Amino acid sequence: MEQIKNYVNGQLIPSHSSRFSPVFNPATGEQIRQVTLSTASEVEQAIEIAHQTYSEWSKVSPLKRARVMFQFKTLLEANMDKFARLITEEHGKIYSDAIGELTRGLEVVEFACGIPHLQKGEHSANTGTGVDSHSLMQPLGVCAGITPFNFPAMVPMWMFPIALATGNTFVLKPSEKNPSLAVELALLLQQAGLPNGVFNVVNGDKEAVDVLLTDPRVQAVSFVGSTPVAEYIYTTASAHGKRCQALGGAKNHCILMPDADLDMASNAITGAAFGAAGERCMALSVVLAVGDETADALIEKLRQQINKMSVGPGIVEDKEHDMGPVISAQHRAKICDYIANGEQQGASLLIDGRQLNIPGYENGYFIGPTLFDNVTPDMKIYQEEIFGPVLAIVRVPDYATALTLINEHQYGNGTAIFTRDGETARQFSEDVQAGMVGINIPIPVPMAFHSFGGWKRSIFGPLNIHGNDGVRFYTRMKTVTSRWPASIRLEHHSSSFVMPTME
Ligand code: NAD
Repeated sequence: MEQIKNYVNGQLIPSHSSRFSPVFNPATGEQIRQVTLSTASEVEQAIEIAHQTYSEWSKVSPLKRARVMFQFKTLLEANMDKFARLITEEHGKIYSDAIGELTRGLEVVEFACGIPHLQKGEHSANTGTGVDSHSLMQPLGVCAGITPFNFPAMVPMWMFPIALATGNTFVLKPSEKNPSLAVELALLLQQAGLPNGVFNVVNGDKEAVDVLLTDPRVQAVSFVGSTPVAEYIYTTASAHGKRCQALGGAKNHCILMPDADLDMASNAITGAAFGAAGERCMALSVVLAVGDETADALIEKLRQQINKMSVGPGIVEDKEHDMGPVISAQHRAKICDYIANGEQQGASLLIDGRQLNIPGYENGYFIGPTLFDNVTPDMKIYQEEIFGPVLAIVRVPDYATALTLINEHQYGNGTAIFTRDGETARQFSEDVQAGMVGINIPIPVPMAFHSFGGWKRSIFGPLNIHGNDGVRFYTRMKTVTSRWPASIRLEHHSSSFVMPTME
């Protein structure tokens, strides 16, 4: 069985741990590789390498660091097909969706290529007579990234391009469910000219993560994953004096107003609910349909669209499917439990994806698109993140009720409204309590040069990921106020005991 190695100090290193985790192909249910779950001392060794490399890398000029990113971008583009196949093999998402994920990661690399401009700080001449001020945006030191299974390429690339370009060194702990791509990215960074030891990958689980959260040499932790783990990461890293951003789960609602373009909205909702088998933190999982007529019309359209959807393995040479399997047998079972619970609690199960059978892939973790109507806020399928291809329709009498439901939900990652009315849309973007808002856009994922992050229990920590917040997260500001001797007047040659004010 192929074993996925760690990547430390420019070398692929087999772990000596006796603990392993299997890596499956979710389309076939076969184990294809195994990953060793690193010991605490192996993680400490990786941190030490990153710590030793920091002083040199942080002094490399931003322009030279940017040139490594330019080279990395070119290599990434050349490897898109190979990497997309690897993502599909270990994650299950369809090939073109894997290309989409790689493209969104690539865009952060492109953003990081602009680091000489982004990191240049501010300057004011003559803040006082003969006095100038400028700020330095200095790197932090060793930074750690802990990433989820659902975007094995994009989420690591939300983090390390900016961390490295700003002069930090990095230790990445990818998801143990699909860790191969992280190692491939490390090898590509080396090819791009990144010095050994600046970027390292350690595979593992909680044992490895706990070292990253507590080791005093680690200065900052970026985490993306489920909310209970995000809370733990943020609390532990903060208690150990680290800067931390921890992005968690979601339950993204959209409001469907009676005046919406229904064809456009129903197409958008179908793609956003069932794309990547609903395993996106920005997947749409709840539609708040305003009025029974709107709900009935939507259901008719959704039925037609879902009937046309094809579900199957992510790579087939003749025709691509719309949706692949979910990540594991356990996750499939959990989604099925949610569906059963929805029925028990009285929701109307209009389309049931549990009975799906794909000839030749009977052992794959497939579950078809599932549609519930008459879902109410007291139900578990409304309150919790399912992270599968399950869409809930909640019927509401008016816009105000819909807005209140979104604002009262524990999660506030993304949200959307479908309407033709500009005033409603504008009011919605003002009043809604969520971090990313779509107006007639179902998955409003900000581009790399903006920042990504939710509200409420979808994020812990003040700074969002990538964009300007990303640059702020990976740098520490220092403000220098200077006066040169020729301008020092005689009276300043004696001590002053008064708070300095500019003259
Ligand atoms: P997860 O929380 O199970 O795992 C994420 C990472 O944390 C993995 O690297 C895992 O090894 C590690 N981990 C798991 N349990 C741990 C523990 N007890 N202690 C320390 N580390 C632990 O998440 P997942 O199942 O891989 O990913 C899906 C979740 O991620 C969903 O909830 C989804 O909404 C969320 N997500 C959020 C965003 C966002 O931007 N907000 C983006 C992608 C995914």
